[in-house]
Amino acid sequence: MNAGFLQTPVAYLKGVGPNRAETLHSELGIHVYQDLLNLFPNRYIDKTQYYKIGQLQKSNAEVQVVGKIVHIKTVEQKRGSRLVAKFIDETGEMELVWFRGQKWIRENLKLNVPYVIFGKCNWFNGMFSMPHPEMELLSEHEKNIRIHMQPVYPSTEKLSNKGITNRVLSKLIQQLFIETKGSFAETLSNKILDELKLISKSEALYNIHFPKNQELLAKAQFRLKFEELFYLQLQLIAKNMLHKQKIKGFNFDQVGPLFNDFYANHLPFELTDAQKRVIKEIRADLGSNAQMNRLLQGDVGSGKTIVAVMTMLLAIDNGFQACLVAPTEILANQHYIGIKELLQGTGVTCELLTGSVKKSVRKPIHGLLESGELHILIGTHAVLEDKVVFKNLGLAIIDEQHRFGVAQRSKLWHKSPNDGEVGGATPPHILVMTATPIPRTLAMSLYGDLDISVIDELPPGRKPIKTVHRYDSNRLKVFHFIKEEIQKGRQVYIVYPLIQESEALDYKDLMDGYESIVRDFPQPQYQISIVHGQMKPEDKDYEMERFVKGETHIMVATTVIEVGVNVPNASVMIIESAERFGLSQLHQLRGRVGRGADQSYCILMTSYKLSSEAKTRLETMVQTNDGFEIAEVDLKLRGPGDIMGTQQSGMLNLKIADIVKDNTILKSARYFAMQLLKDDSTLEKPENLVIRHFYAELAKFKNIWNYIS
Ligand code: ADP
Ligand code: MG
Repeated sequence: MNAGFLQTPVAYLKGVGPNRAETLHSELGIHVYQDLLNLFPNRYIDKTQYYKIGQLQKSNAEVQVVGKIVHIKTVEQKRGSRLVAKFIDETGEMELVWFRGQKWIRENLKLNVPYVIFGKCNWFNGMFSMPHPEMELLSEHEKNIRIHMQPVYPSTEKLSNKGITNRVLSKLIQQLFIETKGSFAETLSNKILDELKLISKSEALYNIHFPKNQELLAKAQFRLKFEELFYLQLQLIAKNMLHKQKIKGFNFDQVGPLFNDFYANHLPFELTDAQKRVIKEIRADLGSNAQMNRLLQGDVGSGKTIVAVMTMLLAIDNGFQACLVAPTEILANQHYIGIKELLQGTGVTCELLTGSVKKSVRKPIHGLLESGELHILIGTHAVLEDKVVFKNLGLAIIDEQHRFGVAQRSKLWHKSPNDGEVGGATPPHILVMTATPIPRTLAMSLYGDLDISVIDELPPGRKPIKTVHRYDSNRLKVFHFIKEEIQKGRQVYIVYPLIQESEALDYKDLMDGYESIVRDFPQPQYQISIVHGQMKPEDKDYEMERFVKGETHIMVATTVIEVGVNVPNASVMIIESAERFGLSQLHQLRGRVGRGADQSYCILMTSYKLSSEAKTRLETMVQTNDGFEIAEVDLKLRGPGDIMGTQQSGMLNLKIADIVKDNTILKSARYFAMQLLKDDSTLEKPENLVIRHFYAELAKFKNIWNYIS
């Protein structure tokens, strides 16, 4: 069947017409034959199995049983009555129950004749019972042609109101198979079909809609999931390869005096193996003539900053400027202070630019940037403003990228004036750093246009943070513990949630909490800082400063301290209403402690009321410190929909595959896509034409319908 035919508007299909077409379009997004063909069932009702009553499980599943009615009676209940039939086979007895249509049923049911019944089975009053079963005489049942595995399609209220029931959908799809004779163009190469022993496209489509048995259904599902993920990966990988061919980058071929001097004389510690490996990967990119677009993932505290610094030194060694952009002022400040200290005595110049930097300070910074005298600019979004122009920006680093949009990333591309190249300025190399680990295969799929490096090792000597869960009623004990830690010279964070929808309430919680802490930790023995989003930036900075310098013992805050803040002497993190935080946020917060040599603690405070999901989150936090493990659980709990970037990547438009559950298929799809492009990057070999055609078609039709709807 040629592909053009499948682009026929669905209104032309026998049994559809304009009204139904409209409903199919608005409710299920079905425009053309192809869309209907790709409307895959959510599940199947398995009528290949016949159960004995003695085999039934208390699982509320749909079952099919053969047996006889031996007795039938009406039972009066508070409101109305119910009809109850005693149904038996040679292994036991159960009840069939009707609340509606009792008269008709009573008159038509035959006693002591074999029936096949089908329906959901409940365990009720010490007996299995099936309300409103589908029933058929065994003698009829044996005569009829049966669809063994009945597909159940997605449904909406409007669909059923308009009479487009499951049965109708199934009929329409049958009609489609009649018109196409069930023959559909193959979309995978013979090589892939052979190697993975996949069934053909036509066979897969037939069995996904009308499975002959469980085994063929499983084969159909596997084949279609693989195909879907394969083409998604093919697109992502091709995009990445194209990017590398097309986008020329500055060539940093010098590993010059600054980098070497820093390595030999200024590095405050031995790099971990993971840090060394990542720096090597970055160096390879920077010397490759292509623009680097790299994502650096590393758990909180894994030491990404030093990697950033050494990458910036490579840029400066090659005569370029570099910038580092952070999502908050506090973080930018901290980077500025830390990096300035690291670079002391190296001759590298470094300035800070944030929203609260005064105009009088800003002006000269602009000048130094344009003249090229300034090597490194650290800042917030302020760096992205149009007024900020570099002489020759060669490298832009973005910290904690989940707070940055793609648009902002691309703004950085145009920070240097046109250098005379055809097609505009050469973009700077981009390094994006994130402490929110994304499971690796997912990351590869989401950020297909980024290469990925991972720091999977913490600096030596870190003691794992001890995490516990405590209920609000244990608060006194917790306060006692805090006092002991402060006695030892440690500092403590106490964090309150701040969720946009209940902001006013949250501030009240924070202020109430603050007051009670002030009462329990009286001055002058205890000094307490407070930081929240409604404070002026200078007040925030002042309070933060006091805590960083060790002048205050306790920092009461909302989640503004979530990312990046580094106070090695802080050893206790108390998270209030911890059940209200997501897993990755809890992990980020916990990462604020455990940065020094001392044993650190994280205490998750909650009320007794906990959803089962909240319980899982808390248990996960107590059990592990590993960010990647936490990310996996998070992904399973929330699904990919809530994870940044999934929307952009088309991952959510998947029709049959599920990137979490079908992770193994995803990996193999990625592998095959990669091998294919390595071997035949333009898909020109005759054996790959089938892939080339379908790939082009996907792109073509996808765009048309995106445009129309
Ligand atoms: P993050 O990856 O969370 O940004 P940082 O770069 O802030 O982590 O590093 C956390 C702490 O670990 C800092 O105090 C830093 O000086 C220290 N650190 C980083 N790398 C090492 C190392 N190889 N050995 C010892 N300490 C290190
Ligand atoms: Mg950091």
